[in-house]
Amino acid sequence: MNSEEMPAALLARRRLCTVVVDGLDILGLHLADQLVHLRLGTVILRDDSLVDEQVSGFRAIDRGRPRAEAAAELIGARAQQTAVVEAPEGATVSGADLHIVTGHGSLPAQVLRRAAKESPAVLPVLASSSGWCVGPLLLHNSPVCVECLDGSGLLTAAPGPIVVVPHPLMLAAAAVAAQQAQVLVDGVHRCLMEQAALIGEADTGMIMPTAVRPGLDCACLTRVEPR
Ligand SMILES: [Zn+2]
Repeated sequence: MNSEEMPAALLARRRLCTVVVDGLDILGLHLADQLVHLRLGTVILRDDSLVDEQVSGFRAIDRGRPRAEAAAELIGARAQQTAVVEAPEGATVSGADLHIVTGHGSLPAQVLRRAAKESPAVLPVLASSSGWCVGPLLLHNSPVCVECLDGSGLLTAAPGPIVVVPHPLMLAAAAVAAQQAQVLVDGVHRCLMEQAALIGEADTGMIMPTAVRPGLDCACLTRVEPR
């Protein structure tokens, strides 16, 4: 659907929306590209690490630059209606509607904790050569918190080689995450990810919705005040 065909209210919602992509390896780059195609108002890119030859998707000329800065330039040049900006190194992000944390092989719990403090909705997206996992969505009042995930094993993928080239698994994970972002931003339907993750297996091609429950010994089970 292009912007001419999109209902005005939907278009307005998307244009008022700010989404953070935290983690800019090949998965985060694909995801940011997909979000730009949704014609969101603002996409903020965050990754303080530098572009090196291990990360595909960047230009050779960008080696040594902060990934967020190089990615904002690359993706911003292709964006027609979305402001693509980098989060300054070490700066706090505020005012985002959705914060997507991406990682290859593992998702650092401390990055998710920081995102959960900054933004009201956090979507973890983990990919590796063994498959991918999108979700669950972490809301301030959701029954699952970062510590639940940290104890569940969902933040670490099965070991395997690093995928450094555009790969169907990375494209699939980015597309699934972008579609969930679209559902959330549009706000017409309830997002599947609120209490579940979608898990894609590389070996079989199977994609499974998987319920994620609070950790039995996690403090969030008994905590009553808002986080
Ligand atoms: Zn918890």
